Amino acid sequence: MQPNIELIQGDITQVEADAIVNAANTSLMGGGGVDGAIHRAGGPAILDDCRKIVARQGGCKTGEAVITTGGKLPARYVIHTVGPVYNSGKPKELELLRSAYLNSLKLAAENGVRTIAFPNISTGIYRFPKDKAAEIAVSTVKEFLIDNKIVEKVIFVCFDDENYGLYKQLLHN
Ligand code: ADP
Repeated sequence: MQPNIELIQGDITQVEADAIVNAANTSLMGGGGVDGAIHRAGGPAILDDCRKIVARQGGCKTGEAVITTGGKLPARYVIHTVGPVYNSGKPKELELLRSAYLNSLKLAAENGVRTIAFPNISTGIYRFPKDKAAEIAVSTVKEFLIDNKIVEKVIFVCFDDENYGLYKQLLHN
C-alpha cells in the first residue's frame, strides 16, 4: 500500500476527511446512489450551495468538479464531480473519468484540503466497468500525489465487495 493512500469499505458519508467527493450529475440537483446518500446525510446546506453554483455557471460538465460545504457531514467540504456514462469504452470516456479524479484533486489542493475521500465514480448508475475504473482512479491519484504538496492523503471508499477486492489488489502491488 502506498503510504498516502488508504482503502476502506463502507459509507463515504461517515468518513472523516477534509473533503469527500460526490459522484454527481451535471445538474448538481442530487440523484441516486452515493449522490442521494451525501445529500441526505449532509442536509439542505449542500443543495443550497449547489443552487448558487448552478445560478453562476449552469451546473457542472462531465469531467469537471465544483466544491460546496459539507453541511452536517463530518467532512468540511463536498467536491462534486461528474463521471462519464459508460457506453462503449471510447478513449474519450476513459479520459473523462481521469479528468473527474484529477479536477477533484486540483480543486481540493486549491482549497487547502489535506485529506480527501473518493467513491468509485461512474461504477454505479453510469455502468463503467469496475476494473477499468479502478485502474484509472488509482493511476490518476498516484500520479497526482507525486507532485502535489497540499493533499497529503487520499482515501478510496468502496461500497461493494467487488470494488473493494479490485482496489485491494491494485494498491498492494
Ligand atoms: P455513478 O452515477 O457515477 O455511477 P453511483 O452513485 O450510481 O454513481 O455509483 C458510484 C459508486 O458509489 C458505486 O460503486 C456505488 O456502489 C457507490 N456508492 C453508493 N452509495 C455509496 C455510499 N453511501 N458511500 C460510498 N459509495 C457509495
